[in-house]
Amino acid sequence: MSKEKMKVALLYGIKNLKIEETDIPEVGPGEVLVKIKAATTCGTDLKIFQRGYVSGIIELPTVFGHEWAGEVVEVGSGVSWPEIGMRIRAGNSAPCLRCVMCRKGNYNLCEDMLWLWGAYAEYIKVPKRTIMVNAQEIPPHVSFEEAALTEPLACVLHGISKAGVNVGDNVVILGAGPIGFLHMLCARKLGAGKIIMVDKVDERLDYASKLGADVTINAGKCDVVSKVKELTNGYGADLVIEAIGLPATWEQALKMVRRGGTVLEFGGCPPGTEIKVSTELLHYGEVRVLGTFHATPADFKKALDLIASGTINVKPLITRKMRLEEISKAFELLMTSKKDLKIAIIP
Ligand SMILES: [Zn+2]
Ligand SMILES: [Zn+2]
Repeated sequence: MSKEKMKVALLYGIKNLKIEETDIPEVGPGEVLVKIKAATTCGTDLKIFQRGYVSGIIELPTVFGHEWAGEVVEVGSGVSWPEIGMRIRAGNSAPCLRCVMCRKGNYNLCEDMLWLWGAYAEYIKVPKRTIMVNAQEIPPHVSFEEAALTEPLACVLHGISKAGVNVGDNVVILGAGPIGFLHMLCARKLGAGKIIMVDKVDERLDYASKLGADVTINAGKCDVVSKVKELTNGYGADLVIEAIGLPATWEQALKMVRRGGTVLEFGGCPPGTEIKVSTELLHYGEVRVLGTFHATPADFKKALDLIASGTINVKPLITRKMRLEEISKAFELLMTSKKDLKIAIIP
C-alpha cells in the first residue's frame, strides 16, 4: 500500500491550491487508513483558502479540509475497531483526556488537542487517539456526504445547547450560511417559536424560508435591530445567535436581545478583535452573553445520531457535488455564489 500514490489538494498560499500525487501514508500501530468518499467544504476552509495559511500548521504547502467520511481500507497493528470495509467518519479533533481542561470536562478546550487535517485527498490516515475518542461507524442508510456534516453540526449542537432554547422562544440568527442554517434546524427541533433569519443575500433568505425560517430580514435593506424589536412587540428576541464572525455583528446581536435573554456569539472573529458591551445591559438587563468554541467528542456522536435518525436533515445544505480535481473552482464558487452552502468534494 505504501508504494501507491494518491491525489491530494495542497495549499501553496493565498488561493493557490494544487492537486498533486503523494505516497499513500503508511499505517502504524493503532492507526487506520480511510479512503475518503466525501469531504465537505466549510467556512473555516474557505478562510484558509483566502488567507493562505492554517493556524497551527505553518509549513506550506499544506493539506487541509476537515469534514469527511469514508471507508476503512487498512488498519494498523493492535486495532480492534474499526474493521476493513467499515464506513466511518472521524472528527478533526481528539482531546487528550488528561490535561486540566479535559479533567474538568471541557474536552473542546483540551490543551493538547490532536487536530486532523487532510480531507481533500483520496486517503486520510487517522491517528490512534482520534480512532479511540472521536470516530464512529456510519449507519448504512446515511450517505457519506451527510456523515461528513457531523463536524459542523457537532459545533452547532455544542453552542446551542449551552445557550439553551426554551419552547416558544423567539430566536434571531444572524447569518444565513451553513452554520446559520444548522442553528435554524436545531432551534426548530428544540421548540423555538418565531425564527428570524438575517442575511444580506435574498437568495439565502429565500432558501431559509423554505427550510423553516418564519421571518427573514435583509440586513442590507433595513435596520435589523428595529425590525427585530418590531417583530417581538418591542422587547427583542429571547435568543440571538451570531453566525457570521464579525465584531460589528457581535455587537449588533447585543442590541436585539430582550432583557433576561441570551446572546450566543458563535462566529469566530479575526484574531485580536474586541467588542463593546454595555454594563447596564448585563446588570439591569440580566442579558446572558456567551461564546462557544468547537465541540466535544460527545457532541460529535450526538450529531451523527441526529443525522442518522433524521431529526436533523442536513441534505439540503449540500448544494453541489464536485470532483477533487475541481476543488479550486469549488472555493472560487463559494466566494461568489449566492446559493451554495456546502459543496461535497468527491475524490
Ligand atoms: Zn467545519
Ligand atoms: Zn486535554
